[in-house]
Amino acid sequence: MSENDSRTLWVAIIGSGPAGYYTAEGLVKNAENIRVDIVDRLPTPYGLIRGGVAPDHQSIKGVMRRYEKTSGNENVRFLGNLEVGRDVSLAELREMYDAVVIATGAPNDRRLGIPGDDKAGVVGSAAFVGWYNGHPDFADLSPDLAVKSVAVIGNGNVAVDVVRVLAKTTGEMAASDLTSYASHAIQASAIEDLWMLGRRGPVEAKFTHKELGELGELENCVALVDAGQIPDELGDIPEKAIPVKTKNLNHLRAFAENDAGDKPVRLHIAFCARPVEILGDKRVTGLRLEKTRFEDGKYLGTGKTFDIECGLIVPCIGYLSDPMEGATFDEGRGLFPNEDGKIEDRLYVVGWARRGPTGTIGTNRPDGMGVAERILAEVSPRGKACCGGLDRIASERGFRITSFDDWKKIEAAEIKAAQGVAPRAKISHIEEMLTLLDKC
Ligand code: NAP
Repeated sequence: MSENDSRTLWVAIIGSGPAGYYTAEGLVKNAENIRVDIVDRLPTPYGLIRGGVAPDHQSIKGVMRRYEKTSGNENVRFLGNLEVGRDVSLAELREMYDAVVIATGAPNDRRLGIPGDDKAGVVGSAAFVGWYNGHPDFADLSPDLAVKSVAVIGNGNVAVDVVRVLAKTTGEMAASDLTSYASHAIQASAIEDLWMLGRRGPVEAKFTHKELGELGELENCVALVDAGQIPDELGDIPEKAIPVKTKNLNHLRAFAENDAGDKPVRLHIAFCARPVEILGDKRVTGLRLEKTRFEDGKYLGTGKTFDIECGLIVPCIGYLSDPMEGATFDEGRGLFPNEDGKIEDRLYVVGWARRGPTGTIGTNRPDGMGVAERILAEVSPRGKACCGGLDRIASERGFRITSFDDWKKIEAAEIKAAQGVAPRAKISHIEEMLTLLDKC
């Protein structure tokens, strides 16, 4: 490695989630004379792995070890607590680096767009999941859980995560890294009824069978569904979808046999019901839904509505990326228009910022690796020797960059503070992280 070698390719990746890390891995595995700086606005790395993946799905979070290996490569550097657009502009990064990759994910909730969706008590899944996972943006959200009924809108795996986290007991969450404030709020809540509402049918639902099956194994919560909503046949669906959909229907058939009186909390899974209005004065008191029917390959409104009472509504209906000054953005789709990951000369995009909020963690691997391959094939070093550029700007402008070693200190403190079999006790405020680093 030669930092000021004019043949060194300098790449900045904005965002340290899975897509950013797989891109970094693809770059350093396939090139020697390269330096990759992974920039993140939080002092901590890993994006959705830390702030989005459900706290009781620790095996999924195990992929952090792979990203840690990439960070251990001498040509990779993590620069945390550095926000592009606040501390440094995209234009400045593009000036300093031979290529820049946007890997900022899709951190914003898509709005329902129905009357009342701005009432107190409507909390989108980005915020709600961020809250229970200790994301610094949402750690102080304090959603009101002193409610008897919660409506979770959507039939994807995020909706399943939210109802499961709300339904599990302290014992069931013992081996998770659920934040202690969320754990206390959930256990002290008055929730008796949870709703998971899909606007289409059980076959079209996007959740997967393993995740759906977990809803049938909850200690204090019984999953219920009206047997009349479950079709006998899958209908005309792509062959590769048949195994998952078959298992989904089997789980639902088992839930339809359950007795509502079995457990203190009931999870009502309802299909063909699309939200049309959020009820209540300033605060949510209920949700109006319209029954839908299937016709000519489409789900259409029937005009028949029904109301459910609820004090909290969590729409889990997808996410939008944040625009970034200096890069073309498609507001409607909430992503950066690109051609196979390329936005324009020397500017690339990966992950949810590239393709929208779809796929699993693993989907980001070919995505990031493919863009890395493309960068190595078409970008040549400009010999600008940008080494230390961001550190210089940080000292001139007075902001503080955190390193990967700093993250390891934060992680060590979190592991040390963990109770019982929990893997860590998360620190959720940036100030607290920086104070801890000052003391180390
Ligand atoms: P998703 O899978 O796309 O599901 C979104 C749900 O919201 C769909 O049921 C959709 O219905 C519904 N929806 C959208 N707009 C709506 C509206 N206006 N009114 C009512 N319903 C609406 O998204 P997600 O659950 O947010 O998950 C995002 C990605 O992360 C997915 O790829 C998911 O598989 C992945 N993920 C995976 C895991 C895991 O592997 N354990 C966990 C969490 C997330 P339609 O289908 O009718 O559009």
